[in-house]
Amino acid sequence: MLKTYRFRIYPTAEQIKQLEQHFRETRMIYNRLVERSNTEQPFKRESSTSVIKELRQDHLFLQNTPSVSYKHVLNNFHRAHQRCILLNRKLKYKSAHGRASFSLINRDQAILVDNKAVSIKGIGRLRAKMTRLIKGNILLATIVKTGSERYYMSILTKQPENKVVPLLQKEKLRCIGLDMGITHFLVRSDGQRIENPRYYQQNLQRLRRLQKDLARKQRGSANYRKQQIKIARFHESLVNRRNAFLHRESSKIVQENDIIVVEKLGIQDLLGDRRLSLQISDASWYRFLEMLAYKSQWYGKRMIQIDRYAPTTRTCCRCRSLTAKLPLQTREWHCPQCDTFHDRDINAAINIMIEGAKIYMKEHPQIQQKLIPVLSDRR
Ligand SMILES: [Zn+2]
Repeated sequence: MLKTYRFRIYPTAEQIKQLEQHFRETRMIYNRLVERSNTEQPFKRESSTSVIKELRQDHLFLQNTPSVSYKHVLNNFHRAHQRCILLNRKLKYKSAHGRASFSLINRDQAILVDNKAVSIKGIGRLRAKMTRLIKGNILLATIVKTGSERYYMSILTKQPENKVVPLLQKEKLRCIGLDMGITHFLVRSDGQRIENPRYYQQNLQRLRRLQKDLARKQRGSANYRKQQIKIARFHESLVNRRNAFLHRESSKIVQENDIIVVEKLGIQDLLGDRRLSLQISDASWYRFLEMLAYKSQWYGKRMIQIDRYAPTTRTCCRCRSLTAKLPLQTREWHCPQCDTFHDRDINAAINIMIEGAKIYMKEHPQIQQKLIPVLSDRR
């Protein structure tokens, strides 16, 4: 299993010079690929390998940095190239400003890690701020300079397979349902409501002010660049906070439960409404579902995605009778059949859990007694 660690590094002025050299080299390769792909159409994958061969023959420094991963540059290029073909756009050259990165392969212990620094052959000891101990075999290190001129490192490792108890051997299986909504980030079938961290909305005003200041500065001036960095830094801090939130919530859910049921996202339906789209991209459900999926695999749990056209909102989770379609603003409703007052979202989360439990029991009929539904008292 592969695992990535990401943390900030603090290179010295001398080290920055070296890093910049590598950024320049990878940028040169990338831009040469862009140039070739713009003149040679259709651009074949084999052509990109020949571009690198040619460059290495002509440039001594490329021969002298064998541990730099060309695959990293190629992958970045191919990803961007594919996207441009899809969108029918012209591929852009990488500029000397803004984000830059390169990867190093861990050959002959070229990358060594302790809890305060990463030592890289040829670059030296880079001071680092690590929040977790790095375990496993190091395969690759990627150094990134962000738009705000901060440096980060990602270390890709190969981990020994996790020893987990298979689900079917467990005494009890906790099954939870999650409803992802518009008024909240998610509501769990146990009634816990997790609000949207609306970082972007909260900070939109501040961002607008920063951008206004930028517009007043002269393009290309030192002050303009300074302001750009300020804005990039602001964006980065929002992304970091959002990721921390998503990691915290997804880890908790996967660790505490065995079967996690969510709806498939049909984001297209919602994106039609511009007022909602900002909140949705802010809430980043896609990223969250990705995290649930790989963490479930990591911990030996099961994530089930149910069809979102199941009427989870308007089915009574108690007596299963259907009610009329509920308008978005209706947060509570009463089931006339069994006389229950429902919280709209909790009821939906419970129904999602029920749908997922049905799927799991169909696959494994013998586990019926072990299944513990995670339920709210309010139902
Ligand atoms: Zn009912």
